[in-house]
Amino acid sequence: MMKELKRLAFTRKRDMRLLYMLAFLYGGLIIGQAWLIVTIVDGVFLQDRTFQWAVPMLAGLLVVFTLRTAVFHLTNRTGLKMASSVKQQFREKLVNRFTGNSMQAASQGQSGEKVSVLMDGVDEIDAFYSHYIPQLAITYVVPLMILAAIFIINPYSGLILLVTAPFIPFCMILIGKMTQKKQDEQVEKLTAFSGRFLDSLQGLATLKLFGQAEKQEQVIEDASLNFRDATMNVLKVAFLSALMLEFISMLSVALIAVEVGLRLVIYQSISFFTAFMVLILAPEFFNLLKNLGTAFHSGRGSAAAAKRIEEELNRETKEVSWGQAEMTTGGKSPEIALKNVSFSYGGDRFALEDVSIHIPSGANVAIAGPSGSGKTTLLHIAAGLLAPDGGTVSVNGRDRREMTEDSWFRHTGYLSQHPYLFSGTVAENIALGCDNNVNRGQIRAAAEKAGLGPVAASLENGYDTQVGEGGRGLSGGEKQRVALARIFLQRPSVLLFDEPTVGLDLETEQILQASLKELEKESTVITVAHRLHTIQEADTILLMKDGRIAAGGSHRELLETSADYRRMVHAHHGGENE
Ligand code: ADP
Ligand code: MG
Repeated sequence: MMKELKRLAFTRKRDMRLLYMLAFLYGGLIIGQAWLIVTIVDGVFLQDRTFQWAVPMLAGLLVVFTLRTAVFHLTNRTGLKMASSVKQQFREKLVNRFTGNSMQAASQGQSGEKVSVLMDGVDEIDAFYSHYIPQLAITYVVPLMILAAIFIINPYSGLILLVTAPFIPFCMILIGKMTQKKQDEQVEKLTAFSGRFLDSLQGLATLKLFGQAEKQEQVIEDASLNFRDATMNVLKVAFLSALMLEFISMLSVALIAVEVGLRLVIYQSISFFTAFMVLILAPEFFNLLKNLGTAFHSGRGSAAAAKRIEEELNRETKEVSWGQAEMTTGGKSPEIALKNVSFSYGGDRFALEDVSIHIPSGANVAIAGPSGSGKTTLLHIAAGLLAPDGGTVSVNGRDRREMTEDSWFRHTGYLSQHPYLFSGTVAENIALGCDNNVNRGQIRAAAEKAGLGPVAASLENGYDTQVGEGGRGLSGGEKQRVALARIFLQRPSVLLFDEPTVGLDLETEQILQASLKELEKESTVITVAHRLHTIQEADTILLMKDGRIAAGGSHRELLETSADYRRMVHAHHGGENE
């Protein structure tokens, strides 16, 4: 993952070039600063130069200090700029994913975890670009410059550096390998913890109602203790590794000091100037290498966060593809065929395998089966919300991928288990997706058909009442009726209906049943059915089991041929008698 982040950085050529240039400048300044200090000390103490001579040198030193700060600042700024634009990219991708695929996103996973990934994860990427990448540029360039400078003035010290320096990255890699797992664990625990926390927060009312608030408190406490332990573990290793690096660099500098000292005092083969210069530059050399280590650690935290985001982004990349042809119905409801359709969400838990169904024009097909058998998934594929991995969906004998997205959805109505209300008035919510030329009368008629008449009468502003986010809340049944009114207004020739399993009032349920009866006269209908009544009414029933169509036929036929079906019907009857 770090490679991926690095690649992203190197695609920003201009910023990288600037970073390298700044690094060169930085290296030059470090060497220049050392040269000035050594020259001043050498001049004043050993060569008895005057104060007059030293003044311009001291001024020069001041200039170098200032420049060094300025270059450092510029480097940081470039890194921050890079970080913010990459973060922006990630945020955009994430937002697109959540909005572009809301049906998917809403139906899976902890919602709190999503928010946490979105908010924290993106910010954690920051360190990689604002810290690690600038440090990387400096580490590529500056130590080499210092090494070259030392080689020029005293090759023996250069050799010692050359031999000892590789121990630093070697040691870093070793420690890195040791801590990798710990750090990933820590990030994971953090996400789990905040996901837990947010979910509990959102579900507080429910938790209270079911007397589970205290138990959740315990769960949150456990999670936070867990997280604390993981953090302490990472810190422990981090301190240890800092100590190790310090030890190695100290040892090398000491070695050089001994070497330089011997040659200066005993053999008198080098000048004080050379010896002092080497002793000033050597620690700088190691400091730079060590800084990379620190930056590397924070960079890896970013990489772990980026990995989670990338996973989130990659989970559903199967875009439904569309073509150029207009879909026409010729006044008849279309015939729909799925041929050898396969699909998986990625991961090996669940897959649709080799599903073939043929739905004649005007048919009314019910999909039944245990929960988790893939009914909703199949409906989403039929609706053009998910693309199959293999096989085709054809409409009136034509591959659906040849048609335009617009024309398909104009003819298709989808009634989901959890209809969503957008921020706006009731009327706007009903007219959603229709051309501008629907009038109030049409909206009202559709609403009345969907049983919204009495609901609207009870609202303060009737059909102009604000609902959805920030507006008045509607009950589940009322939302279903709004969704149904959308369908009545649209009059689709294909109707896909995911029957709500629970939570509908009797009246809404009756309205839904009656509406379905009316709508199926003019459309091809596929219903994911949970109620025996709905199942029995269908022309054809498809019984799903573990991502396959286990049996198909009419109610009568299935009662004879399928043991699974008989079991299901029996269970329903049992439930109804109790
Ligand atoms: P049904 O509607 O029959 O209850 P679904 O089609 O909703 O079944 O789900 C089938 C299986 O696919 C389940 O195991 C479910 O956990 C899994 N699943 C559903 N949606 C997703 C998704 N977006 N990502 C990953 N797995 C999913
Ligand atoms: Mg379902």
